[in-house]
Amino acid sequence: ILLFGGSIGLFAAVAAGFYLANRSLIPIRRSLEKQQQFVSDASHELRTPLAVIQAHTELLLRHPDHTIEQDSKHISNVLQEARRMSKLVGGLLTLARTDSNQLELERKPVQFDRIVQESVNKMQMLAEVKDIILHTEIDSPIPMEADEERLHQLLVTVLDNAVKYTPEGGVVRIICNKLAHSVQLEVEDTGVGIAPDDLPHVFDRFYRGDKARTRQEGGTGLGLAIAKWIVERHGGRIRLESKPLIGTRVYISLPL
Ligand code: ADP
Repeated sequence: ILLFGGSIGLFAAVAAGFYLANRSLIPIRRSLEKQQQFVSDASHELRTPLAVIQAHTELLLRHPDHTIEQDSKHISNVLQEARRMSKLVGGLLTLARTDSNQLELERKPVQFDRIVQESVNKMQMLAEVKDIILHTEIDSPIPMEADEERLHQLLVTVLDNAVKYTPEGGVVRIICNKLAHSVQLEVEDTGVGIAPDDLPHVFDRFYRGDKARTRQEGGTGLGLAIAKWIVERHGGRIRLESKPLIGTRVYISLPL
C-alpha cells in the first residue's frame, strides 16, 4: 500500500511539474509566435514593392532603344516603390529595436509647442499642394522633459496621416492645450474617416484600412504602431475617433 501510495504521489508531483512548466512557457511561446508573425508580415510587405520594381525593370530592359522620356513612367514607378521600401525598412528597424528594448528615449528639456509648430511647418508644403488649410491653436510656452526627435516623428506621423487621408480643399485643425500636469493635443481632419470595423486595429502593425488608398498614398501601416510606442514610453495616451466621410480626430495626452 505504501509503495502504491508513494507512486501515486510521485506521479501527481511529476504531472503538476509538467503542468506548471507548460504554463510558465505560455508567455514565451506567445512572444515567439508574435515575432514569427512580425517576420512573416514584414517579408510579405517587402515582397510587393520588390515585385513591382522587378516588373518595371524588366520592361525597361526589353526596350533598350527607348529614351528616358519614353520610359519615365516605369522609372518613376521604380523610384516610388524604392522610397516605399526605404520607409518600410526604417519602420521595421525601429519596431525591431523597440521589441528588443534597444530603443530608449533620450529625454531632455524641450518646448513642446515649438516641436508642434515645427512639425506643422514641415507639413505646410504637402498641405498646400492639396489646398488643405492647417489651422493651429497652440498654447505657449509648454516646457517638458522629452525625446525631441521621437516627438517630431510622432507629430509628423499624425499630421501626415491627416493630410494624406483628407481630400483636396479640406481642413486640418491642430489644437494644443497646456493643462496643470499634462499637455493635450488634438489633430482633427475633414478626411475620409475610418470604418468602425477598422478603428480598433489602426495601431496594429501593418494594418491599413483601405488597402488600395493607403498603398496609393505610400502608407506602410507602421506609422501609428510606432506613434503609440512613442506616446506610451513618454507615459502618455493616444486614441482615435473617426466618422467615415466626415473625418478623424486624434487625441494625444502627455505628462509634463
Ligand atoms: P499608413 O502608413 O498606412 O498610413 P498608419 O499606421 O499611420 O499606416 O495608419 C494605419 C491606418 O489607419 C491607415 O492605413 C488608415 O487606414 C488609417 N488612418 C490613420 N490615420 C487616419 C486619418 N487621419 N484618416 C483616415 N484614416 C486614417
